[in-house]
Amino acid sequence: MAPLLQSRSAWQCRASPRALQAPRAALRRSAPLGPDLPQRIWSVGWPVVPATLAGLCGARARKLAKSCPSLPSPTRTVNPGTGEWVIPEDFPKPKGIEQTANYAEAKALSDKLKALDGQAKAKTIVVIGGGLSGLACGKYLSDSGHKAVVLEARDVLGGKVSAWQDEDGDWIETGLHIFFGAYPNMMNLFAELGIEDRLQWKRHQMTFAMQEFPGEFTTFEFPGWPAPLNMAAAILLNQKMLSPLEKLQTGPPLLPMLVEGQRFIDAQDECSVTDFCKKYGMPDRIIKEVFIPMAKALDFIDPDKLSMTVVLTAMNRFINETDGSQTAFLDGNQPDRLCKPIVEHIHQRGGKVRLGAVIEEIVLNEDASVKHLRLRGGEVLEADEYVSALPVDVFKRLLPAQWSSMPFFRQLDNLEGIPVINIHLWFDRKLKNIDALCFSRSPLLSVYADMSTCCKEYYDEERSMLELVFAPCAAIAGSSVNWIAKSDDEIVEATMKELERLFPTEIGEKLADGARLRKSRVVKVPRSVYAAVPGRNKFRPSQATPIRNFTLAGDWTSQKFLGSMEGAVLAGKLAAQVVSERALSIPSQVKRVADFIIEQPSKAPEGIHGSSALAFGGGTQMKAQDFEELRRQDPAALYDGATDS
Ligand SMILES: Cc1cc2nc3c(=O)[nH]c(=O)nc-3n(C[C@H](O)[C@H](O)[C@H](O)COP(=O)(O)OP(=O)(O)OC[C@H]3O[C@@H](n4cnc5c(N)ncnc54)[C@H](O)[C@@H]3O)c2cc1C
Repeated sequence: MAPLLQSRSAWQCRASPRALQAPRAALRRSAPLGPDLPQRIWSVGWPVVPATLAGLCGARARKLAKSCPSLPSPTRTVNPGTGEWVIPEDFPKPKGIEQTANYAEAKALSDKLKALDGQAKAKTIVVIGGGLSGLACGKYLSDSGHKAVVLEARDVLGGKVSAWQDEDGDWIETGLHIFFGAYPNMMNLFAELGIEDRLQWKRHQMTFAMQEFPGEFTTFEFPGWPAPLNMAAAILLNQKMLSPLEKLQTGPPLLPMLVEGQRFIDAQDECSVTDFCKKYGMPDRIIKEVFIPMAKALDFIDPDKLSMTVVLTAMNRFINETDGSQTAFLDGNQPDRLCKPIVEHIHQRGGKVRLGAVIEEIVLNEDASVKHLRLRGGEVLEADEYVSALPVDVFKRLLPAQWSSMPFFRQLDNLEGIPVINIHLWFDRKLKNIDALCFSRSPLLSVYADMSTCCKEYYDEERSMLELVFAPCAAIAGSSVNWIAKSDDEIVEATMKELERLFPTEIGEKLADGARLRKSRVVKVPRSVYAAVPGRNKFRPSQATPIRNFTLAGDWTSQKFLGSMEGAVLAGKLAAQVVSERALSIPSQVKRVADFIIEQPSKAPEGIHGSSALAFGGGTQMKAQDFEELRRQDPAALYDGATDS
């Protein structure tokens, strides 16, 4: 059974006698001398002197520890920065989030769309796709006074944030999803929906597993100072990952970004992360220690394949926004906790969201505008305007023949989804875990989190559930093995081997008292967010298209955020703006297409037809039939580039 939603008080009352003994053991295990000695001395005093506990965890934590002293909790949560045992705790929404220029811009666009309500004759707009982009588009179209009809092919909302329950009632997620302070449109959406309390903000730090010291973590701690001082301090104060010289060598290559801003960032799109680092003399260890984990986390790709624009876009926000890099987890499954409130908002304003509505064909008028949509089963749907919020691979397969020769749509030949795998591992006990996202720094794994600690709905006092992003997992992303083609058992075995290496004292067949895996679930997404390999930005189309009644949304369309939840929401909002302004006869600019597109030989779209989640750009626990469909229709998704070379 899925763990019950914890009440806030139960959630916080997790101090235990066992947890309070732990710092002594931690100190016994660690080296006698070292830069963290003062912290370790401090940690010895923690269980003994309650006042010290207050200093570490705050008065509230002490009150809680006192108020439930006998709670039999085996929770083993460490502060990764100090190695001390801590009571997991959610933090308040960071104050600086709403004070950035990007947030002001996001809110201004929301306000502008609301102000359009009643100014034009209300239109009916069909939005194809019930992922975050389609839902956001439907929400903002409703706000601006139109009737939005969102059509989702699957029986679950959310697309790449969709989740479902298995036979035990445990939630299976398409992906481990993390929210950042630097997500202005997403934060604004949470505020508008009145669901900000569903975000569980974590300590402002970035945590990396230590390859060299298995079982240990290192953190970049952001003190409560304004940006960019907090990031400078975070880098300078980290003692374990980079040497002082390496820290000094990191700064100069980033200076042009700070001086020139977005223009410099955009100009780096033709360059891979590795090439950029070489060009600007960054030490190899920076690539290995910082950029590999970042690249894999941002786009599931290794740095020699990833566009530098992606890394710089994220770094720019993290450097310039005080709370930009602070992370939050949603307090439960995304379809219920995030998508459902958006659906309710659309319904309240007279719109509709339909599940199981598969669009099979976009039927055109003679002038190439959309006449109607044909659904699977034969239903025909006519509206005033149409928005596609489909994944790029799916949209290309649906593209009407008449449009496919137009340069605006031809440029999409250069965009395709990247494969990624999301793994859930349930253990028979609570692992030493941290109440935060962790960068694994393993060749196979990207980020992971112990969801039994980080997320209220999945909370389990007794047993850990790790959710891990497995990347890169095919040649396009830098892997020599195509993991999409592998069985779940092989993927879990490889993951467990990595975990044994990272946590040798807790996980491993050879350990007499090692943690045992109770259950695992593997979700594969053969074509997820668009592959941000060098040179892709110029092919990302504007939301406005050359077709008079057709607009694009989706995280892959042109917007200043990456292929992310924030990018998806912003793209949906921009699409709503295009449609709402058109209703007032205000034209939108169609992004210019590179001249050479016309010369490019056309490329057949990839992906599969059918009714599985894979056919709709989503993720699934792949069965024999899914492998068969991929083999037949999309062999590239199973192709192991290394085999033939
Ligand atoms: C493993 C993983 C981890 C991730 N982690 C993060 C993270 O930590 N932070 C972050 O910001 N982002 C993360 N992302 C990215 C994020 O999930 C996506 O960028 C975002 O959800 C994309 O939203 P979208 O609406 O553009 O596309 P989608 O979610 O793909 O939505 C498209 C929708 O269209 C529907 N559809 C398809 N075909 C049809 C049809 N013919 N008719 C009708 N409907 C159709 C699909 O079913 C789907 O619901 C992650 C993604 C993955 C896969």
